[in-house]
Amino acid sequence: MREFLFYLIFGLSCITYFVGLGSLRKTSKKGVIDRLYFLSALFSAGWGLFIGLVLVQTDEDLAALFRAVGMLHIFGLMICFTHMMIFWSDIRGRRKRWTAGFVWLGVLLYPFLIRRENVVFEMTSYGMSYRIRTSIFSVSYVVFCAVAAVNLLGLSVYMARRCVRRREKDIAYSLMLCVMIVGFGCALDTFLQMIGFAAFPTSTLGQFVAQMVLCRTYRFYNDSRVTLENMSRFVYYSVDEPVFLFDEAERLCIVNNGATIFLGLSAEECCKLRLEDIFVLEKDAFRFRGSKNRVEARCWQRNNICSISIDKIYDDYQDIIGYIVIVHDVTERVRMLERLEREKQRADKANEAKSAFLANMSHEIRTPINAVMGMNEMILRESAEPATLEYARNIQHASKTLLVLINDILDFSKIESGMMELVEEPYSLGTLLRDLRTECGMRAEEKGLALTFIVPEDTPGDLLGDEVRVRQVILNILTNAIKYTMKGSVTMTVSYERQAQNTVRLTFAVADTGIGIKPENIGRLFGKFDRINEEQVHAIEGTGLGLSIVDKLVSLMDGTVTVESEYGRGSVFTVVLLQKISGGGTVGSIREQPRQREKQTAGEPLFTAPEARILAVDDNKVNLAVIRGLLRKTKVQITCVTSGRECLEAAAKERYDVILLDHMMPGMDGIETLEKLSGLPENRSRDARVIVLTANAMAGVREMYLEKGFDDYLSKPIEGAALELLLKKYLPPALVTESAGE
Ligand code: ADP
Repeated sequence: MREFLFYLIFGLSCITYFVGLGSLRKTSKKGVIDRLYFLSALFSAGWGLFIGLVLVQTDEDLAALFRAVGMLHIFGLMICFTHMMIFWSDIRGRRKRWTAGFVWLGVLLYPFLIRRENVVFEMTSYGMSYRIRTSIFSVSYVVFCAVAAVNLLGLSVYMARRCVRRREKDIAYSLMLCVMIVGFGCALDTFLQMIGFAAFPTSTLGQFVAQMVLCRTYRFYNDSRVTLENMSRFVYYSVDEPVFLFDEAERLCIVNNGATIFLGLSAEECCKLRLEDIFVLEKDAFRFRGSKNRVEARCWQRNNICSISIDKIYDDYQDIIGYIVIVHDVTERVRMLERLEREKQRADKANEAKSAFLANMSHEIRTPINAVMGMNEMILRESAEPATLEYARNIQHASKTLLVLINDILDFSKIESGMMELVEEPYSLGTLLRDLRTECGMRAEEKGLALTFIVPEDTPGDLLGDEVRVRQVILNILTNAIKYTMKGSVTMTVSYERQAQNTVRLTFAVADTGIGIKPENIGRLFGKFDRINEEQVHAIEGTGLGLSIVDKLVSLMDGTVTVESEYGRGSVFTVVLLQKISGGGTVGSIREQPRQREKQTAGEPLFTAPEARILAVDDNKVNLAVIRGLLRKTKVQITCVTSGRECLEAAAKERYDVILLDHMMPGMDGIETLEKLSGLPENRSRDARVIVLTANAMAGVREMYLEKGFDDYLSKPIEGAALELLLKKYLPPALVTESAGE
């Protein structure tokens, strides 16, 4: 009997140990509960094994030793079990501390419990058995066990009552059962002894049963939490995306719920299908390198477009055992992309149409202004009548304002449509500042304002950047300062700071003593079409676009523009720009330049070149008359023609030094004419420099024309001074005599 009992207990110990170990090995992410469970199984097995060994002993001392080790396991099991219950019942604070602390009290009793003289061993029909002599300690031990059992039972009842979720209640009931089984086993042990039966190890056997219940509870707990092991169940039930598992022979063998819904078939019907039975595939999707493949295909059944990701599944030897296929229905996305693409094409077309419209408008408006300004400039040059001159000056002012307005609107629409591109080229900051000073000096002088430029002479002068836009920004700020200042002064202070990588941080601060801006209006300053201080500025020309353009241009150049102002006293606009340095030159002194323009308006040309021959090509006869008029005093010989074809004929027949070629002409336009010109077999004007004259002032056109092969570019309305400067540059120097006083 005792051997049987021992082998039974030994077998149960082994089972308990391996079941515990197996559970732990199966769990990929080990948490507190997993470790506690494994320890409890270990202690349970130890309890059984050592108490079992006591049974088969004949030597009392050895039996006492095994019992002492067995007792250690009993306490270990109690501690683990209690902590598992604390974890599951989620008690906190004092209650948790008390429960956890109490179970450790048993350890204090341990030295007494194992003392040889306190235990009486006796041989029974079941093997070696023992009794603890009655004393204060044995009573304490019984009380301790009873309190611990009642406490754990109370804890499981508390948990069962408090839990809301059914799975937690289930755990609570199982734990309750465990406590009851162990408690019953122990009580029976004691009771049997009390009524004179030899101690039968009911507590040891009972704890095995409790351990099995605990094992079931632990598995149930594991199944109902998110773990890698039960992911497949979630994929099966919860994932909406169809998931297919194909075996090595590429036959579908497992599908999830999502897949059956997707195919509209039962799981059995789905199985044995091949991938090509489900999707329209151009080639075998399972033949691919690496471990992952993604294909896009249409589904036979539903005709929707799917993105299919195929992953190889490997065994421990890295051999393929199957494929996992996850399907994403991308029909909506593809349709949306197609829609977006169509919309984009439509928007691009509209944008192109807008650009064409802008270029056209620019051309159409500039052409008549060209005529007005050109003719007007001739009146200014040739008339001696003071009243006529006064009218002509007014026309000149109005047409310039109109031109600025058109340019602003064009710039603004370019920026808005994202078409404004910066052109980085070397330029001289010194020249730029001198030009600005000359240009603004005249305006300031007309208003009786003092214009001062404070520029350190060693400021880097050879820069790389978009000169046109830098000029536009500063000119705008300066013009505003002059416009909105009635008396006093305008001062521009330039400062610089060299940065790493050959760049310079330039600060242009323009201070005026003008009308100033109210603090509440400063935020609106850079808004489009926003003119502030309306009551004061309505008499001053402006659209409210200038600063908005400045702001956008500056941010395109990665710079900043800020303003400080005191209403009624003046403002300071500060522009900070980062520019690359292209050479070692400095700005030097910014003195006012001689007033070339005034001189010319007074009738003196920059040069004379009676031997020079110029061919002017424009379909608009007024423009030709303007060119003729503007250049009359230079005495150059001008031939005028009105089409590209005539231009080719004239160039073939005669030698011309410079050809002024209009771009937009009916029939053959300027660009085509230039192409044909260079291909002319008979061309007496082979060496002529060709300058394009155009009313197209869109950004980037200059570069476009130079790329097409023109030598230079002059935008309409043509200013006499600019035209003379260009001709002086391109006419053979031998033919040019510079005017005295130049
Ligand atoms: P515009 O000058 O064409 O009206 P801007 O965009 O250049 O447009 O300026 C917007 C508004 O900012 C102006 O209408 C004016 O009220 C105010 N403003 C600009 N510069 C100054 C300045 N230096 N002093 C006072 N007010 C200014």
